[in-house]
Amino acid sequence: MNYIGAHVSSSGGLEKAVLRAFQIKATAFSFFTKNQRQWISLPLQKKNIDDFKEACIKYNFLPEKILPHSSYLINLGHPIDVFLEKSRAAFIDEIMRCDQLGLRFLNFHPGSHLNKISEITCLSRIAESINIALEKTKNVVAVIENTAGQGTNIGYRFEHLYEIIKKIDDKSRIGVCIDTCHLFASGYDLRTKIDYESTFNKFFDLIELKYLKGFHLNDSKKKLNSRVDRHESLGLGEIGTSVFQWIIKNKNFRNIPMILETINPKIWEKEINWLRSLKHKSN
Ligand SMILES: [Zn+2]
Ligand SMILES: [Zn+2]
Repeated sequence: MNYIGAHVSSSGGLEKAVLRAFQIKATAFSFFTKNQRQWISLPLQKKNIDDFKEACIKYNFLPEKILPHSSYLINLGHPIDVFLEKSRAAFIDEIMRCDQLGLRFLNFHPGSHLNKISEITCLSRIAESINIALEKTKNVVAVIENTAGQGTNIGYRFEHLYEIIKKIDDKSRIGVCIDTCHLFASGYDLRTKIDYESTFNKFFDLIELKYLKGFHLNDSKKKLNSRVDRHESLGLGEIGTSVFQWIIKNKNFRNIPMILETINPKIWEKEINWLRSLKHKSN
């Protein structure tokens, strides 16, 4: 069985996110455990935690099918120490929130060098940040997302993800999430079978399957290697539909949560249905 869902809103309470996922007939989902555009959030109260966990049981979402996303403010590779510290503290707080909610993963963007340090120094800072955070927390796996490479964001090459993983002390608590829009925008072609097989071969040459913890299934508004991160609904962008069928049919990806971050929430249910239908469709 495939586990497919979307990044749902948690406005009105975290348990509302679970309900929203259920309403679109999702079997996986993503959400923010706090306001993603603010540094500080109120700590989770017992009631928030209980309501969330109850909703997950009621609507049948196992923790390993839920891929919470961290705040966009966090930059674990920040070149300036005082801001790096702020990011590290916020990241630790997010991991702890996930742990309190009984979740297994926290998905995050690696960071940005802001043209002040080299990419390699930035990658080292990110790895050090993750090591510090894992040391101070428990249970939750830190799941790095590949990026479109927009601006000074790092993580747009498989080599970047590899470099970070290599430096992590506790390999049982590090993972990767592949975003198809980011992949395409960063120059990895996904349009034809030859393209996506070659792209995923490159990925698996560096990163073992056991590290792959999630997919973000998005089409891209922008062209190959544009280095611009603009998501599009499935089939309406530059990528086409073939790669999504290949991902859905791939036995290796069967238990990995697949999350839509496409731009029109009104058609998420339709997109989820369509993805499920691909499983039994011939190529
Ligand atoms: Zn993301
Ligand atoms: Zn994503």
